[in-house]
Amino acid sequence: MIQLPKGTKDILPDEMYKWKYFYRKIEEICRSYRIEEIKTPVFEYTELFQRGVGETTDVVQKEMYTFDDKGGRSITLRPEGTAGVARSYIENGMGSKPGPIKLYYAMQMYRYENVQKGRYREFNQLGIEYLNTQAPSADVEIINVATKILDSLKITDVIVEINSIGCPVCRKKYQEILKSFFKNNLENYCETCQNRFEKNPMRILDCKEEKCKKLNETAPSILDYLCEECREHFEKVKSGLNELNIKYVINPKIVRGLDYYTKTVFEIISKKDGFAVLAGGRYDGLIEEIGGAKTACIGFAAGIERILSLIDEENLNIEENIPELYIATIGEEAENIATKIVSSLREKNIICEKDISGRSLKAQFKYADKIKAKYCITIGEEEIRNKVAKIKLMSTGEEETVGLSVEDIISKLS
Ligand code: ATP
Ligand code: MG
Repeated sequence: MIQLPKGTKDILPDEMYKWKYFYRKIEEICRSYRIEEIKTPVFEYTELFQRGVGETTDVVQKEMYTFDDKGGRSITLRPEGTAGVARSYIENGMGSKPGPIKLYYAMQMYRYENVQKGRYREFNQLGIEYLNTQAPSADVEIINVATKILDSLKITDVIVEINSIGCPVCRKKYQEILKSFFKNNLENYCETCQNRFEKNPMRILDCKEEKCKKLNETAPSILDYLCEECREHFEKVKSGLNELNIKYVINPKIVRGLDYYTKTVFEIISKKDGFAVLAGGRYDGLIEEIGGAKTACIGFAAGIERILSLIDEENLNIEENIPELYIATIGEEAENIATKIVSSLREKNIICEKDISGRSLKAQFKYADKIKAKYCITIGEEEIRNKVAKIKLMSTGEEETVGLSVEDIISKLS
């Protein structure tokens, strides 16, 4: 049998209701902030990610699905959403619209990862991007949206971690100091970190290897080297979060390590398993990097699978596709009547079913039970003659008489 590719998964109907619930919440919340949805292509020219995600990142160096198409162009399945959104922003002239442009997306991403729990090769991200806004209040609002989404899903066992990584001006000095700190001990860091030393030293702070983490404990903090503007920006972000009563901790080890990432960076971590549910930050230099005008932006991406794994269903009122009514039938005439009734009820968005498998009456009852139908009506010869039937509340077995008209039936469903 052919199996699904490693790192991918099917999302089956018995899990889909959770995804739908999530999407409904997102739509609701985003509408209230006037954040509009965007979709970009699954594949882009490879160069977009090389420039937009950065040559020195793990994503570009190790994780991309890249191939030449039949026309000989290098194509990459998107490993993240921001680069495509930034390209679309430039290409569609969104910069000339009244800013900020507030966008969200929920799309599949592709990364050639070491597959493990919470880490797939095809996964879904919710991303929110605010483009063309440089004020600290945009940072506050975007962190506020992130916490609101988790709150609405009753995911509360999380920590918001924030940091500022300054701007290319103040970072230059910090990077020199950081490099001289690493230099003394470089041979004790992992190989990946040793490679990062020249090209992307700040990334070393983000290493997940225990021995590197230990060495990093005494590393100098970027927060001691911020320039006046970046310091002030960070202060305003913090006080904005305080105003909104959003709890956070400052973690100077959160970095992005690319030139076009600036100022605020943040992550929301699940306390339960230590995973980052969501990560984001300012990228004031990205649009310019990929060919647009200088445009200040901030955004985040959340792993939808990771969010859904934290949902406690008991705590949420997630609707399943439970049918309101099942109509059991005996004979062809009864079936015709049932067909008419269910089609009228469906017009009114009432979830209902009737037999379409030619089952015996007993098997129909069994099926109604299995699909957890709330009510069941049985139609046979006698019911047809008298134009009334019994409607049974399945949970108690209680029965009532109902006329075989759509209006009567609706009045009994509650
Ligand atoms: P990590 O350090 O865990 O590899 P990352 O820095 O690569 O994370 P981002 O690119 O910032 O992650 O992506 C944002 C979010 O997307 C992550 O916080 C996580 O929730 C989710 N995510 C990233 N990679 C995967 C994956 N392979 N499978 C499932 N979710 C993922
Ligand atoms: Mg990763």
